[in-house]
Amino acid sequence: MTFTDFNLHATLLESLDAMGFEKPTPIQEQAIPYIMQNRDLIACAQTGTGKTAAYLLPVIHNLLASPSGKHAINTLVIAPTRELALQIDQQVEGFGYYAPVTSAPVYGGGDGATWDQQKRAIVQGADILIATPGRLLAHMQMGYVDFTHVQHLVLDEADRMLDMGFSEDIMMIVKALPAKRQTLLFSATMPSKIRHLAKTILNNPHEISIAISKPAEGILQAAYLVNDSRKNELVKHLLAGKKIASTLIFASTKIKVKKLEQELRKMGLSVAGIHSDLEQPEREKVLSSFRAKQVQILVATDILSRGIDMEDIGLVINYDIPNSPEDYVHRIGRTARAESTGVAITFINESEREEFKRIEQLIGKEVNKVPLPPHLEGGTDNKPKQHHRPGGNQRRSFSRR
Ligand code: ADP
Ligand code: MG
Repeated sequence: MTFTDFNLHATLLESLDAMGFEKPTPIQEQAIPYIMQNRDLIACAQTGTGKTAAYLLPVIHNLLASPSGKHAINTLVIAPTRELALQIDQQVEGFGYYAPVTSAPVYGGGDGATWDQQKRAIVQGADILIATPGRLLAHMQMGYVDFTHVQHLVLDEADRMLDMGFSEDIMMIVKALPAKRQTLLFSATMPSKIRHLAKTILNNPHEISIAISKPAEGILQAAYLVNDSRKNELVKHLLAGKKIASTLIFASTKIKVKKLEQELRKMGLSVAGIHSDLEQPEREKVLSSFRAKQVQILVATDILSRGIDMEDIGLVINYDIPNSPEDYVHRIGRTARAESTGVAITFINESEREEFKRIEQLIGKEVNKVPLPPHLEGGTDNKPKQHHRPGGNQRRSFSRR
């Protein structure tokens, strides 16, 4: 199958060609025809499988094939984080390069000028508005947001948005939209709360589900059983003195991120950290220098684990195991994007061993445990990991999947 089989508008084929997209990914192959028929859709596929294009292409096609001639918001995309909103906006720019399509990202943070710029885009009616829930509601409360001409609503990374507590915000936004619209819900996992949300706001949706929560085939996964006090040395062992590809290290708290960033910098490695304490412009600066390979190692909390697309990440290190098995899939999904290959290494301390079994159960295979280099054996663990989720240390039932 090729992109020409969809009967997409000619300018889209041109930009796909320019972007080097040769053939549709499985989720694109299945989702695009349904979206073009104007049906509601729930689509579930792991990270890195091309979900963004799966909804942007048909939405932009529709704008080009039947232009409204109005300066009005045609499509509202809701996404969990500013990084993701920006990234979706960039994809619109890519696909819309040869087309008269306007888009604008609307996200929190920034200064008065950012707010004014977002307000202008809203008032002038960008064709495609890509917004985080909180900031969009703030604009809505000012009274100038006109949703009367919205035809498509997209919820991207819906599971993440619910995890972040956005479900009430989403409901408030949805209530302000025309009832007659197309609604598309994209998610990497399909927990029951997503089904519930879908029931409330989608209309007789078609459902597509592709290999739920299985990491991409191209990722080589391995793990070390290592005590906390040895983890920094193990990172050094893995990275020092080697010519390393772009590396992403995840840690569960911003304190760990800051400490590890300092440690690695002391070793003379090219490193930056990203976490929720950084202001938006700083986060963007860090991300763009990592993308541009001015920085080789990025240490991050889970704010980065979903949705953010960065090419050529050769190695992902989980400095500790994530709070939920799904997050593991999201974290390691940062490598081996779109059929390339990558390595994901996880550090497991004594108290995390049971928890890691749940991850292995979710991904349906045992991850290879690599023996520690002899000089890193022993050491001590810090106090057991605190879980955000109530009862997070106990085994949960798997009946929900
Ligand atoms: P997801 O939202 O499923 O996590 P993305 O939409 O962010 O995935 O896409 C992951 C990467 O794959 C991006 O770099 C995107 O440009 C690329 N990509 C998507 N579709 C294709 C395709 N058909 N051919 C080549 N690359 C693609
Ligand atoms: Mg995505």
